[in-house]
Amino acid sequence: MTDGPTYGFDTLQIHAGARPDPATGARQTPIYQSTAYVFRDADHAAALFNLQEVGYIYSRLTNPTIAVLQERIATLEGGAGAVCCSSGHAAQIMALFPLMTPGKNVVVSTRLYGGTVTQFSQTIKRFGWSATFVDFDDTDAVKAAIDEDTRAIFCESIANPGGYITDLDAISAIANDAGLPLIVDNTTATPYLCRPFEHGATLVVHSTTKYLTGNGTVTGGVVVDSGNFDWSASDKFPSLSQPEPAYHGLKFHETFGPLAFTFHGIAVGLRDLGMTMNPQGAHYTLMGIETLSLRMERHVENAEKIAAWLETHPNVEAVTYAGLPSSPYNHRVEKICPRGAGALFTVALKGGYDACVKMVDSLEIFSHVANLGDTRSLVIHSASTTHRQLSAEQQEAAGAAPNVVRLSIGTEDAADLIADLDQALNKAGS
Ligand SMILES: *Cc1c(COP(=O)(O)O)cnc(C)c1O
Repeated sequence: MTDGPTYGFDTLQIHAGARPDPATGARQTPIYQSTAYVFRDADHAAALFNLQEVGYIYSRLTNPTIAVLQERIATLEGGAGAVCCSSGHAAQIMALFPLMTPGKNVVVSTRLYGGTVTQFSQTIKRFGWSATFVDFDDTDAVKAAIDEDTRAIFCESIANPGGYITDLDAISAIANDAGLPLIVDNTTATPYLCRPFEHGATLVVHSTTKYLTGNGTVTGGVVVDSGNFDWSASDKFPSLSQPEPAYHGLKFHETFGPLAFTFHGIAVGLRDLGMTMNPQGAHYTLMGIETLSLRMERHVENAEKIAAWLETHPNVEAVTYAGLPSSPYNHRVEKICPRGAGALFTVALKGGYDACVKMVDSLEIFSHVANLGDTRSLVIHSASTTHRQLSAEQQEAAGAAPNVVRLSIGTEDAADLIADLDQALNKAGS
């Protein structure tokens, strides 16, 4: 298939990036389980290593199965290029890596996946980087947090665990004024519900572990570049705008234009950090993506029904689903994710911590796991698990206080899920 702007999402999620295998005609994308690729001759090898010709050298850098997935996701996001890596967390490091040097900071939202809070508040310090956490609903605070050493702004489109929606247009306007790239983690929305580049984002990251794969089989991540950022407009991004010492002085922006970030991610990021996706994993994610829109429609339909029902349950204190008219984020659905507010939200129980634990232990269809975005419905008590390393204030700010349970609504029968929640809530008591 030749990709054209006229194809719809449902067509692209099946066909973008894929073509019948030139050697065998295989219709499905083969799993190229090969570490290395034979060079035609010494000149061909040299051209590949000089990035003068695009091709395959070694699977730490590029692999034909993964290349299809990269093109598929870049197309669905409306980006110029994408680099897959071993996990969502790897994708976050890969996104920051070309932008940051010791002493530089990233301004980030307080409403983030718990593991990201830990990665940003603790682990990146080892690289000499730091993160400044801000309430992204307070745009003045976001502006005030940016200083001379800021190199990026980071948020989630629909934020884990509460399902809060970030006003991407407002944040990207601030990033633009400051000459900084906006990185959006679009994991919980997927490109079917939200397209961050249409709201001014520069880079999108995903944990492909979640909805893109959709069936809880493999971990993976991806960094997608819009191709729209002018890395040479200031002297803030020398890895991209100046001769890159890690690639014999190549100027990535001058040489590759809108694909500068993508080429840097492969030629320097994957080469030296080695956070590579494996072809088997890419295969599972390609299988999942074929049905992304169908699953997301059902995820949203179920989440809307279940959130509305939960709100009326006598043992429930509050439900954070942005698709509910009671949510303070409801007015952003139309603008940011018009096809629905996703399927991830939290429920606060009147019985507090003890009721949460009892509910989680009583559910039968919902699985108690540290994952989201599976066809199976999932539940977790964030404060004692995914957000456990956080302080009480960080838990509160992230929407993961001890009295809340996080639900990831699957694609089962809504009536069955409601019945399961009902029996568990009744056991949990008020
Ligand atoms: C799971 C998740 C991550 C981390 O992804 P992994 O694939 O587990 O490394 C990052 N951001 C969000 C929003 C997530 O849900």
